[in-house]
Amino acid sequence: MKRTLYPKLLLGYAAFGILGFLTIAIFTSRLTLNYIERDTASDLYRESNLLAANYAANYYRGTMTLEDVTSHFVAVATYLDAEIRVVSLDGKVLITSGSNTSSNTIEDFDITAFGTSYYQTGTFFNTFPEETLSVFSPITINYKVRGYVLIHKPVRDLIALKDGFINIAYMTLAVIFLCAFVLIGLFTCTVYIPIRKITRAARDYSEGNFDTQINIQTNDEIGYLAASLNYMAAELSTLEDDQRKFIANVSHDFRSPLTSIKGYVEAIMDGTIPHEMQDKYLNIILLETERLNKLTQSMLELNKYGARGTMLDISSFDINNTIKLVVQSFEGICQEKKISFELILTGHTSYVYADMSKIQQVLYNLIDNAIKFSHPDSTITIETTEKNEKVFISVKDTGIGIPKDSMKKIWERFYKTDLSRGKDKRGTGLGLAIVREIISVHNENINVISTEGVGTEFIFTLPLNQDNRD
Ligand code: ATP
Ligand code: MG
Repeated sequence: MKRTLYPKLLLGYAAFGILGFLTIAIFTSRLTLNYIERDTASDLYRESNLLAANYAANYYRGTMTLEDVTSHFVAVATYLDAEIRVVSLDGKVLITSGSNTSSNTIEDFDITAFGTSYYQTGTFFNTFPEETLSVFSPITINYKVRGYVLIHKPVRDLIALKDGFINIAYMTLAVIFLCAFVLIGLFTCTVYIPIRKITRAARDYSEGNFDTQINIQTNDEIGYLAASLNYMAAELSTLEDDQRKFIANVSHDFRSPLTSIKGYVEAIMDGTIPHEMQDKYLNIILLETERLNKLTQSMLELNKYGARGTMLDISSFDINNTIKLVVQSFEGICQEKKISFELILTGHTSYVYADMSKIQQVLYNLIDNAIKFSHPDSTITIETTEKNEKVFISVKDTGIGIPKDSMKKIWERFYKTDLSRGKDKRGTGLGLAIVREIISVHNENINVISTEGVGTEFIFTLPLNQDNRD
């Protein structure tokens, strides 16, 4: 069985109860009895001193009669709930407040049995049937000890007093125990149950099940932890989805060219494709191989941006000139498709701080898309504007546009809109993902405005180098 916190806590609670009970029953009980014994003895000693110095001495001197002294002793004994005796040096009981007659003699009476203390417990030379507390004071006349005043009180009375105190201690312990029980209840509701929920959810997460929600809505550390874990699970589950989608896309994009290459190669080898047709199919194979090459290149490129701290080769260059150069590289295709460019540049040079080769790649991808998704006989407009220490670069076409629900997805790896699939079968869907990574490592922004069937405009920013103006 798995060890959990709760049984340990309950065990601790029970141990606390039992130890508390035993402490009171043994330790507190003994200490209390000792204390009561000492306290009572001291009270009785004060009393016996008084009796010895006044009444007993007067009796010895003969200034008080035996009856007077006895009746006085009886009154004091009743008040003290004790027995008072006057004993001669040889153990003869001269006066007693109890039922014993005064002629009794205590056998083996020896006052030195008290030692250095003024009190002792026991049966007092077997004159009592039970444990008794005995206190003595010497009766001194003319500096000579003539006898002793003894006060005896049954230990039973002291034990009864102690039991009263101990009962109070037990009741206090019961109240403390009850308070601890309430505390445990509170702890169970506010800490233990939520922690158990969190532990269960964490176990589910570790098994890859991210659907488990932790239902804790408190405004404390535990609530905060639960909310964080819920958030983490949601993020992990989308991450997992993304990863699955990514692998499916990669596999699909690699499989289709490979399948067609394999098909054509087999057909050429077994003679299905006649010799004179082979060139055409070898060209297709070459194109497919190029596509695979591009795919691999793009993925490697993207992987580079995935790792943090991509090194940029920042320099100051004229973005207008860069645009013109990139546009030139598309002249051949544009002539084929009868697409023309309109460049509305800042008029003068616009120097920016950026990694030139990477920005060329951005422009290349955006213009490539604009051409691919434009209709023949249309114009692509490229515009640069300076505003607030930034240069805004816009690439705008009047092509097929992007459906509204695809607007966010175009930045994802391998994503292609359904509209575009008919127009461009070669695309990998990685171009814009790379564009976004490049712009974001420059700490700049890129946005898209598009209307399906009307056209698309991509706008991104670069930091302006103001020292290099015309
Ligand atoms: P690659 O860039 O690798 O050749 P691709 O062009 O299909 O492939 P991206 O550049 O990432 O991939 O673009 C993703 C998708 O966004 C495109 O497939 C297309 O559906 C849509 N898209 C991008 N630019 C435009 C545009 N100018 N007009 C319409 N749709 C666009
Ligand atoms: Mg592209």
